[in-house]
Amino acid sequence: MKEDIVVAVVGAGPAGSTAAEAIADRGIEVLLIDKKSEIGSPVQCGGFLPEAFELEKLMPRALLPRTLKEIPERNILHRTQLQRIYSPSGNYKQFAVAGRVLDRRAYDRHLAARAARAGASVLPATCARLEEGTLQLSGRFCGKIRPQIIIGADGPHSIVSLAMGNPIQETGICLEYEMADVNIDPQAAEMYFSAHYAPGGYAWIIPLGRDIANVGVGVRASYLANEKPPGQKLPFILDRFIREHTIAAEKLAGGEVLAVMRGPVPAGGTIGVIQKGNMLIAGDAAGHVMATSGGGIPLAMVAGRIAGEAAIGELQAKIPLTDYPSRIREEFGIELERSVQIRKMVDLAMKSDRLMNALFAALSPAQMKSVMRAQIPAPLASR
Ligand SMILES: Cc1cc2nc3c(=O)[nH]c(=O)nc-3n(C[C@H](O)[C@H](O)[C@H](O)COP(=O)(O)OP(=O)(O)OC[C@H]3O[C@@H](n4cnc5c(N)ncnc54)[C@H](O)[C@@H]3O)c2cc1C
Repeated sequence: MKEDIVVAVVGAGPAGSTAAEAIADRGIEVLLIDKKSEIGSPVQCGGFLPEAFELEKLMPRALLPRTLKEIPERNILHRTQLQRIYSPSGNYKQFAVAGRVLDRRAYDRHLAARAARAGASVLPATCARLEEGTLQLSGRFCGKIRPQIIIGADGPHSIVSLAMGNPIQETGICLEYEMADVNIDPQAAEMYFSAHYAPGGYAWIIPLGRDIANVGVGVRASYLANEKPPGQKLPFILDRFIREHTIAAEKLAGGEVLAVMRGPVPAGGTIGVIQKGNMLIAGDAAGHVMATSGGGIPLAMVAGRIAGEAAIGELQAKIPLTDYPSRIREEFGIELERSVQIRKMVDLAMKSDRLMNALFAALSPAQMKSVMRAQIPAPLASR
């Protein structure tokens, strides 16, 4: 493999493939590198993605890539109409949200295939390490490369982010089962809050069809310290939710687990430095995940598009890469920052079910929808 590559993108998730497609489309040489033997697999996602018109309300200043708006029907497993949120006491509030539930394995492969068709060289089963500006590749493709630009789209434990001097970011840890033969409401994506069943996070049921769903729990490690007996692990917490939660257990009793997925989700908003020298980071690597929901697919793709455009700008128009952070801020910085502020406010309540029930009772369904969209509703903003 030749050493002097123009652009290398590490990570072929939604952020990386979106960046690589944009770059290759402009006739620029780009490598898309992923350590996974099969792009998109194993899946580490619930697959929930609001419809494009909902995303436009979530991020009104962002230019959504076409691939986020127009998704092939074969990549969509199911559609939901409602978001339903349960308080610790079992009361719920619901509001309309049109959602698509993706087949993430197929969708990630679709995005990587688009990058390949645009001219990107795709390198699966290839692990990248960064040493003083040199990418060391091992696996299916081996060798050293010195790209003019490196885009780190390599997820929450990004090697590119670490090479830029960022600390390890704050993450939630998630475990999810795909369950069949469950008695769920196929119209509703559900979130369950409870200090007992989902410490510092929430549990979810995302329908994949009439009687099949992704059932998961995302918690923050610091909250697990209070678990009794101490040191409880995620499988225990998720199994307890499935077996014992007053509302969820009725829906999930008798269900069978078809797949087990796990992974970290950034929870602290954008990371300190997202551009340094010839390196950019995008998506989970940069903390681009809504802290209120843990939803990262839309931000990853918008950030991937902007990273790709920043590389093109530098290479074809001498627009410095240093513009990248401000372009991210312009498109979704406010919403991301607000989602972290809201999460911090809710954090206090999450320590006690009593406080969480009180907060829940104080919010109307419309206000709750605003909170999920990282818009601070008036009664909270004025405090
Ligand atoms: C259990 C769970 C459920 C979730 N549910 C949802 C949901 O319902 N909706 C939603 O919007 N978001 C969800 N998320 C978050 C969402 O999956 C991520 O935000 C999204 O995938 C981020 O895309 P990305 O391209 O930035 O990173 P990723 O999709 O993580 O892709 C990064 C890629 O980089 C590769 N890589 C990493 N290091 C290297 C290396 N050194 N060399 C080569 N390759 C490397 C990895 O193999 C991976 O393919 C969930 C996350 C988890 C863990």
